[in-house]
Formats: sequence, C-alpha cells, structure tokens
Amino acid sequence: MRDTPRQREHTARVVRCVECGCSSGLRWRGWGAYRYEDAETTDPPVIVFYCPSCAENEFGHSRRV
Ligand SMILES: [Zn+2]
Repeated sequence: MRDTPRQREHTARVVRCVECGCSSGLRWRGWGAYRYEDAETTDPPVIVFYCPSCAENEFGHSRRV
C-alpha cells in the first residue's frame, strides 16, 4: 500500500463481486452490499458485494431491502 497525501478516503478498499469476481476498483460506483442469509442453515448472515451488472441480474427492479 502506498501513502498518498491526497487520498483521504478511509473506506478506500477494493472488493470483488461475489457473482462474477470482478474488482470494484476504488470508486464503488453502482456497487451494492447485500445481506445474504441462508434459510436452510443457522449460519449467521454475511455481507456480499455485487457489481452493478450482477446486481441488476440478481435483483432486477423488484429489489426489496
Ligand atoms: Zn459481477
């Protein structure tokens, strides 16, 4: 990691899309974090990330949160 004086973002980190595996880059434009809970198990819910195109494929227009 580099220390760039101009970079003030504390939350600047990169994640990968859980669906296609592409990288978010540093901007996260259009990305979404979703809570995923498997009803079949007692595992605690996890947070997963979707890139804009996969989010639309997965949730379309009927997204309810
Ligand atoms: Zn994706």
